[in-house]
This record gives sequence, C-alpha cells and structure tokens, in this order.
Amino acid sequence: MAILFRPVFDYDERDWVPALKKELAGYDLRIAPDVGNPADIHYLVGWKLFDGDKTAWPNLKAVLPLSTGVDRYIGHPDFPDNAKLVRMIEPGLNSGMAEYVASFVLRFHREHDHWKAEQNNKNWIHDIPKMAHQRTIGFLGLGNLAQSCIDVLKPFGFNMRGWSRSTKNIPGIETFHGRDQLKTFLSGCEILICLLPLTKDTEDLLNRDILSALPKGACLINPARGKELVDDDLIALLDNGHLRYAALDVFRKEPLPADHPFWAHPHIHVTPHIAAVTIPQTGAQSIRQTIETMGAGGTPVGLVDRLKGY
Ligand code: NAP
Repeated sequence: MAILFRPVFDYDERDWVPALKKELAGYDLRIAPDVGNPADIHYLVGWKLFDGDKTAWPNLKAVLPLSTGVDRYIGHPDFPDNAKLVRMIEPGLNSGMAEYVASFVLRFHREHDHWKAEQNNKNWIHDIPKMAHQRTIGFLGLGNLAQSCIDVLKPFGFNMRGWSRSTKNIPGIETFHGRDQLKTFLSGCEILICLLPLTKDTEDLLNRDILSALPKGACLINPARGKELVDDDLIALLDNGHLRYAALDVFRKEPLPADHPFWAHPHIHVTPHIAAVTIPQTGAQSIRQTIETMGAGGTPVGLVDRLKGY
C-alpha cells in the first residue's frame, strides 16, 4: 500500500512534503513524479488530482484533496469509480474561517467603513452604537466551518440564525431549512455569511431575487464558492443602496480578472481566497487519521456523499 502526494504549489515541497513525511513515517509515501508502480497507490493526496485517465490507479481506495471544497471532483469523468472522496477537515481551517468571518462581522457591525468615510470628510459625529444583541447575523449553511464561526461570535451576544438543507437543533441559533424557508430566514439577516458548498442547488443561489429578500442596508460575507454569487446582481444591489457592503474571498474565476468590476467597487472588499487555508502540520495529521480509519475499515471524517455533492 502506497500514498502518492502530488505537489502543485511552491509551498508544497517546502511545507507539505516535510509535514507528510513526519506524519506518515512508516508508510510508503511517494512524491510525484516518482510514482513507482501505479498499482501500489491506494491513496492520492494533493490539490489537483486528475490528469485524464480514471484507470491510472487500479487499486485506488480514496482521493484525499487538501481542500474542503470538493465541487471540482463531483461528477468528474476521470474520478475512479470505486474510490472514495474524503474532503479536508482540520482545525487550522476552522480557526482561519472563524477569524475571517468574525473580522468582517465586527467591521460591518461597528460600521468601520462608515466611520472611515466620515474621517475622510473630517466629520466628528458622536452617537450611540447598536449593540451586538440588537444585530442579527445569519449563516447560509450550518456545517463544519459555520459552527466554528458561531462559536467565536457567540460571546459577543449577536442574534444568530442559520439555514441548512436538513432540520437542525443548535442551542442559541434560530434555524431554518429548505428552499421554502429561505426568504423568511434572509428577511432578518443584517449580516449574511455564506458557508454553503457549491452544488447544482447552490450555484447562482445568491441572485438578485434572493439577495433582495435581505433587509435594506444588509452586508454579505462570501468565503464559500464564487459560483454561488451572481456578480452583476450583487453590484446592482450595492449600487441601488439595498445592500451596504460585501466581503468576497471567492470568485467565479480565480484569480479575479484584472478588469473585473469587483476590484474597484467602493463597497466591495476583495481577498484572494485566503479566508481559510489548510495548515500542513494539522492537515497532515488529518490525512494520517483518514488513512488509519480507512485501513481499519471505518468511515473517515469528511467522507463526501457524491450524490449530495458535499
Ligand atoms: P459543510 O460542513 O459540508 O456544511 C455545508 C452546509 O451547507 C450544511 O449545513 C448543509 O446542510 C448546507 N447545505 C448544503 N446544500 C444546501 C442546500 N441546497 N440548501 C440548504 N443548505 C445546504 O461545509 P463546510 O466544510 O462548512 O464548508 C463551507 C464552505 O466553505 C464550502 O463552500 C467550502 O468550499 C468553503 N471553504 C472556503 C475556504 C476559503 O478559504 N474561502 C476554505 C475552506 C472551505 P445540511 O447540514 O442539512 O447538510
């Protein structure tokens, strides 16, 4: 049994290879292009895992991407028929996403962009700020990463609500589910955080009709997937004042093209898909746990339901 790691980025050789060698000491770890006999490979680890031939790895048990988002693998014609797909779940990603989301929630809640504009006009306006318990924030998606964001934001006292596919019972969170309850959920969200996976049901979900269900002056934070958002619809709603501000980390095309209007929009904050990055040390531990669990015949954390798409 061998594990094949396929480096892509510069930091893969520098950071991932040593982390994997440490965690997988005792296993037959191979670093592409030194594959050896393809029939030995049981696990593929990396960012981009296919190159056109689903029969290349006749004994493959699982594909272990280093990312949480697995939309690029769902329905991929080269995905080996019998292999499982296990998405990356590791604490570094949870911490990163919680920091990213909390930083923008607080920025929008305390209206830092408004105060910066007042500073530019040398205006000194003293007023009583809205308290966290007077502000409702909403999560589209109540999965692994949303839960970490909720945990970090809870002590501030925000009213929190969330929307998911199945019913949920999360202490302190008002929950909604299914398409029928989506607009009711949105109607109370002053700050909306999208943490949905990209599937056929969520593609283009954040369109003009849906975003218009948010209250006037609402803000959007999208660190999930770019194709969930209809770019022109967001710009139209920011420009007509229905929405106040958007923080976007993911885009329909990445890198975001130089001529894209998001770059220069005064009410959009762009970050280059850095909300949550898999940390090699903890990510390598997660890979080891997955391989150990599967080796013992168990179900690994992060096993993807390829029919559901996440
Ligand atoms: P997750 O654990 O799979 O949770 C997904 C949540 O979305 C679940 O609550 C699920 O509902 C809900 N959902 C899925 N389809 C739905 C639908 N059609 N209608 C309503 N709810 C639906 O996902 P996660 O690990 O938290 O990841 C969230 C997102 O973050 C993904 O898009 C991922 O790609 C992205 N991400 C971004 C970065 C970055 O750096 N920007 C880093 C890591 C991850 P149920 O609970 O009912 O199934």
